[in-house]
Amino acid sequence: MYLKTLTIRGFKSFASKTTFEFEPGVTSVIGPNGSGKSNVVDALAWVMGEQGVKNLRGGKMEDVIFAGTTGRAPLGRAQVELTIDNSDGTLPIDYSEVTISRTLFRSGGSEYHINGEAARLLDIQELLSDSGLGREMHVIVGQGQLDRILQATPEERRGFIEEAAGILKHRRRKERSERKLQSMRANLDRLRDLTEEVH
Ligand code: ATP
Repeated sequence: MYLKTLTIRGFKSFASKTTFEFEPGVTSVIGPNGSGKSNVVDALAWVMGEQGVKNLRGGKMEDVIFAGTTGRAPLGRAQVELTIDNSDGTLPIDYSEVTISRTLFRSGGSEYHINGEAARLLDIQELLSDSGLGREMHVIVGQGQLDRILQATPEERRGFIEEAAGILKHRRRKERSERKLQSMRANLDRLRDLTEEVH
């Protein structure tokens, strides 16, 4: 598995559609300060489901949409598309190439797609969770983040290892099931009360 292409439009400093083509192996992005190198990495994290605005170096999610420059008006939507080569079957999906995309509208709506089909954030997270990629960004070490990892508490360090080992997915599933169970219990209690009232 490797990242094949990343297409960005309307995301941060990338107003026009811009496509990066990657080859297997090491890729370097070189440019002057402030030219948007970190924005490329932000786009990668974002399309993989990143929800933390701080991790995206913004104040609110809308900040990822191109805000305009002196010569160019702000845009109404940000869109990022990532194509992953899956010919080795690392991702649990029957396609040798997988394209995930995320769109955010300034009006508030947001969309995710997997190979052109509408998907939920959860589907993207599940698809990527065993691959070593994913929204927790532990595979993306940004500027200054090395310190955070070196200074992590034992609990945080355990979280990193759990994600790498693919345990986090099951922990999330367990939490979802527990929430469902709790609401079922509340429904059952209500039903019991009603039955007692009727008798
Ligand atoms: P450095 O090497 O200094 O870290 P960099 O090449 O990584 O810089 P980035 O931090 O990726 O640069 O890009 C910063 C630029 O992106 C700034 O010029 C900033 O104004 C621009 N930018 C960020 N968000 C938006 C946005 N929503 N709309 C337009 N421009 C944006």
